[in-house]
Amino acid sequence: MKLLKIAAAAALAAAVLPTSPLHTAAADTDDMPVLKADVNGDYIINSQDMVLLNKFLLGSGELTAEQAERADFDSDGVIDTFDLLGMRRSFVRNATTVPQGTWIGESSEGMRFCWFNKGREGSFADLAENTSAAFSMSKWGDSIDFTLSSGDELSSTIAWLDDEHFYLKWSDSAPELFTHKSDVPYYNGPSVAGEYVSDAGKTYKLSGYTGTSGGEDFLVLPMGTQAQFIYSDGTAKTGDFSRTDKYHFTLRWEDGTAESFTRREITVKDGITYVNGILIANKTYALPSTYAPGGLTAEFNTAFAKMQAAAKADGRKLEICSGYRSYSYQSQLYNNYVARDGKAAADTYSARPGHSEHQTGLAADINYASDYFNTTPEAKWLAENCYKYGFIIRYPKGKEDITGYKYEGWHVRYLGEELAKLVYDSGLTLEEYLCIDSKYSY
Ligand SMILES: [Zn+2]
Repeated sequence: MKLLKIAAAAALAAAVLPTSPLHTAAADTDDMPVLKADVNGDYIINSQDMVLLNKFLLGSGELTAEQAERADFDSDGVIDTFDLLGMRRSFVRNATTVPQGTWIGESSEGMRFCWFNKGREGSFADLAENTSAAFSMSKWGDSIDFTLSSGDELSSTIAWLDDEHFYLKWSDSAPELFTHKSDVPYYNGPSVAGEYVSDAGKTYKLSGYTGTSGGEDFLVLPMGTQAQFIYSDGTAKTGDFSRTDKYHFTLRWEDGTAESFTRREITVKDGITYVNGILIANKTYALPSTYAPGGLTAEFNTAFAKMQAAAKADGRKLEICSGYRSYSYQSQLYNNYVARDGKAAADTYSARPGHSEHQTGLAADINYASDYFNTTPEAKWLAENCYKYGFIIRYPKGKEDITGYKYEGWHVRYLGEELAKLVYDSGLTLEEYLCIDSKYSY
């Protein structure tokens, strides 16, 4: 298990005296924190250290400058019996204290979280590997044996530096410094993975425990209902996490600002683009000429019939005036418009072949495909109610630059009731909701 395999250079990771939650990996051994009582400097506080100190106090042994510094437990510049007493206290602490809560371990291989539960169980997440596993531990004296959920067994010694820091020393490797992060003992926070775009226009790649954005790497520490981003310069920001659905979450940062994250998972299957699983046809994403459902889909028709009945009960009449259009039909339509109004004008109201949502079989124009429709009571009814039946007004007013089309109160797109409500409630266009563009590239 990678967690417990620390390279020999791992000692270098524990840089300066641990005052910040993050230490730079590029550090010199000279900067290693002094582990008091560990006279021989092996990051194990045991009887060998006691023997060295005793010999020195009895005048039968010498200490090097480094050993003397570590033996000077109370740091008063003199090595005496008070240091021996301090060392005994340190022994007791190492023998009796079991870590609790959330800790961050650092080595040259990166960082990891360890969650120590009450009792002697816990789990870890390896940041570099993005793996995690549960473990149980048995502790006696300064030794801890870990049994991983995989069945692997590993041994270490533990040496406490102070209440907030301890070392685990794995066999045949340098010690790993653990820093206390939280009393919350166990990971139960949000886990996110994938490529996200925030409403600030930043792209984030999140792997669950690590992330990168704009060339900046950071760790994601999930705890409870919060997530903390820890940057490599040691700065950290914590946000309250709330999830809208599996593709959207919001972090409300400590300074009161909020950042909304949208997962952008673009897959192309048989030439058809799906964003977060939603079939997309717009100016950026085209359908292949061979994509031909041949008519409106069954889901569309069922939902439309339901909506039509509801509108009728309210005294509103809804009819489809243009539903499915094939690639070749759209081609004819568009070319006629270009011949009549020119390409630039045609592009504001008619889609180029392959780019029409009508080719999906999931979109239709209601009553009149003209500005006149927008003045009718049906337009108002449709705008206020269509989401209840799984539709959205695809090209809303004032969003021309985003959707690529002028306001079309008559053009509805079927998304299903759940998604249509989410998009409606967001007040966003489908492009904004999914963080995608609608722009011709040719
Ligand atoms: Zn239309």
